[in-house]
Amino acid sequence: MEHLLDSWPKLEGNFKDRVVFIFFDYDGTLTPIADTPAEATISQDVKNLLNKLSENPAFKLAIISGRSLNDIKNIIGLTNIIYVGNHGLEIEGEKIKFESQVSPRLKSIIKRLYENSVKKFSKIKGVLVEDKGLSISVHYRLVDKNDMQEFMRILNELIEPYIGRGKIKINPGKKVYDIKPPAGWDKGKVALWLLAREQFSKGENKIFPVYIGDDVTDEDAFRALANKGLTIFVGEPDKTEAKFYLKDTSEVAEFIRRIAALRE
Ligand SMILES: [Mg+2]
Repeated sequence: MEHLLDSWPKLEGNFKDRVVFIFFDYDGTLTPIADTPAEATISQDVKNLLNKLSENPAFKLAIISGRSLNDIKNIIGLTNIIYVGNHGLEIEGEKIKFESQVSPRLKSIIKRLYENSVKKFSKIKGVLVEDKGLSISVHYRLVDKNDMQEFMRILNELIEPYIGRGKIKINPGKKVYDIKPPAGWDKGKVALWLLAREQFSKGENKIFPVYIGDDVTDEDAFRALANKGLTIFVGEPDKTEAKFYLKDTSEVAEFIRRIAALRE
């Protein structure tokens, strides 16, 4: 697999004459993964770089996160960016406001699961149950490895009544399980939809899409955009379908710096 910065000379032409539409994941892409989600703040340097791109008409930016829409909007705090929360269930940007239809019954299942998770996991030190409105994240980064068997037992017990009947979906991430409604939206479908919207207004050949992410949920987007633009995995490449990789979040910042310089 090719390292993006090593392959720069043959790639930089892609960024020169079209609107570059960049989709960024957040955790592990724009900021290193932290012990808890609250600690994963964005550096002023990366924020300034994003701000610079967002003010340049040569770029279009979307941040696609598993966090709730409000959470990701507050963290980044810039205008002129499309924000996608809950892996695609919520979208907001200039002239866009979308919330996926989740039935009241499903919402009440998610709510009940959240309350039960908080209760049941309270006996295991280090579990963090996050209420994201339309979904729940159960973080286990701080759980002692001796408690993992019990953690998994409780998790299975909690989801078992719903998962068999297709009421919820569970996705493993980096030391986290996301429990969400089985709705059809994923990061790939959202990226394609946002791209199509932009192509419709500016012309199909005028947009060059780039997707950068580090997690399992980003693979849907790598597949969706495989033949349309540039797909970039962040981290040591192993089983990813992205075409290029960057080693870490500081290389992501370097990539942003380079494309910004090309269009100054
Ligand atoms: Mg991530």
